[in-house]
Amino acid sequence: MRLKHVLVVCFLALSVLPLFVSFGMLQSYSATQYRNQIEDKLNAVSQLAKQRLTAAIARIEDNTTLLANRTLLRQQLGEYAQTREYALYDTIENSLRDAKKGMEQIVDISVFAPNGQFIASINRTATSFDRAMLKGRDRIVFLRHSQELIVRSIVELEFDDNIVGYMVADFSGDFILDLVNDQTGLGETGEWLFAVRDENGDALFAVPLKYDARAAFIRRVAKDRLDVPITQALLGQEINMANAHDYQERPVMASTRYIKSMDIGLVAKINESEVTAIIDEANKYLVMLGFALVLIAIVVGVLIASLIAKPVEQLRKATQKLASGDFDVQPVEASWREAKDLAASFTDMAESIHDLQENLQHKVEERTRDLDEANQRLMEISVRDPLTGVHNRRYVMERLEQEASRARRYNGQLAVAILDIDHFKQVNDTLGHATGDEVLIGLAFCVEHTLRTSDLFGRIGGEEFCIVIPEADKEGTLLLIERIRSAIEALPFNFDGKQLKVTCSFGVVFLAEEIDSTMLLMECADKALYHAKETGRNKIVVYNDMPKDLLAETSKDNAG
Ligand code: GH3
Ligand code: MG
Ligand code: MG
Repeated sequence: MRLKHVLVVCFLALSVLPLFVSFGMLQSYSATQYRNQIEDKLNAVSQLAKQRLTAAIARIEDNTTLLANRTLLRQQLGEYAQTREYALYDTIENSLRDAKKGMEQIVDISVFAPNGQFIASINRTATSFDRAMLKGRDRIVFLRHSQELIVRSIVELEFDDNIVGYMVADFSGDFILDLVNDQTGLGETGEWLFAVRDENGDALFAVPLKYDARAAFIRRVAKDRLDVPITQALLGQEINMANAHDYQERPVMASTRYIKSMDIGLVAKINESEVTAIIDEANKYLVMLGFALVLIAIVVGVLIASLIAKPVEQLRKATQKLASGDFDVQPVEASWREAKDLAASFTDMAESIHDLQENLQHKVEERTRDLDEANQRLMEISVRDPLTGVHNRRYVMERLEQEASRARRYNGQLAVAILDIDHFKQVNDTLGHATGDEVLIGLAFCVEHTLRTSDLFGRIGGEEFCIVIPEADKEGTLLLIERIRSAIEALPFNFDGKQLKVTCSFGVVFLAEEIDSTMLLMECADKALYHAKETGRNKIVVYNDMPKDLLAETSKDNAG
């Protein structure tokens, strides 16, 4: 695993994981916050609805009081109580019509005698009277009449300190319908529930429901269903409920209200599914933000990891390059101090190794050169004559072999000359061996410097030398040999004030069809030399020019 990858993993572990955890926490915290907000809102709207309802009921009570205080009506009822005159029915009915004027919410007004007997009414909505209606809070009741919600208010009528009858005023319940139909602030699934208590104490819905239009005064919720908000409301509990159940058994969030004076329950509720949807919607942005932050963290992580790992990677590559013998190492770039120090040390090290390597190379080259020179010297020595410094016999013979075979191959010319110092024994004998050596050295020097560089020259015996002339035409060769002969003759040897004359005899042979080997060449040159000695010395004899009889003679001499 690369350093960069390790760093990226570490960075992600240190940044992204905590980020995820905190986002998870934030999400659950925000979910709670949203639930609280929705709960607060339900609580606020239900409180407001309760206030509106209470105010509306109070107005009905006020209007009822106004009606009950109408003196003319009470007078007429007092009169009826005494006279029992049926003619008064119409008069009273007219009074009721008068009273209704200016009170728009009134649907009907009826009056009954103290014994419960019906006297008069505008629309005959209430045709019987039950004294039980008079009990305490039941003076206002909610009921349905021809599909309409009616709020019925009942009051005693007095005249001259006597109860002269009862009045039943039916008000329109439309204001309650208006209230429950206004679902502002309750969301999509939100709904108002408005219920009275039935004869068994169960909740009886008094208005149509959102999901059951025919529920009014039909649909009930049993009083033992404490998980249903409307039951709690009718129990007088003003609470917020989460995951409660509505009349359809759906999970809901609800706020309950109870209006004690009229024994009615009021509930504002919203489906839990909608609450969850609202929270999910809000969390969607939180999740998106989270992902954006995680993405940024990953990018930053990768950048930081690259920043740290880059110099290490460069150093690794540079080391590899160095190891492969390439010293052209680029300086390593680093943005943090330790890496900079490391890079600087590495560059120093690379330079040191480079210098060392170069030094070593120099030394090796020097040694190789010395060795080559020594070898060269050794080779020179092995082909040179130690006394005179000219080539030795072995070398001359080897080269002659090569030159002869080349000349044969290309039909070239080749001449071989052997020269021998005349009466050299005498020099040794009279002037000493050392002087003889001096003569050999001087003579060799002279011959070598008279020859061309393409010619080969060497000492092949005590005071015998050999010259090999490649590409030799006869005339040029003889001129050259003659020049050598006369140069030797002219050498100014001087030992202890005595002049010494040194001459040489020359035997020359040219490569020919019958004389084509080294051995034959040397043999023939030797014969010519012998002949030169025989015929007076200090002269040149060419074997190829020697008469046939002489040749036979020399062979005979040789054999002898
Ligand atoms: P010629 O050739 O004219 O017939 O007479 P010569 O005196 O030269 O005859 P010979 O070939 O018999 O003598 C050769 C002499 O050369 C014999 C030897 O003492 C001498 N000699 C051979 N090698 C050396 C050497 O290295 N140094 C000295 N000083 N003398 C040498
Ligand atoms: Mg000799
Ligand atoms: Mg000699």
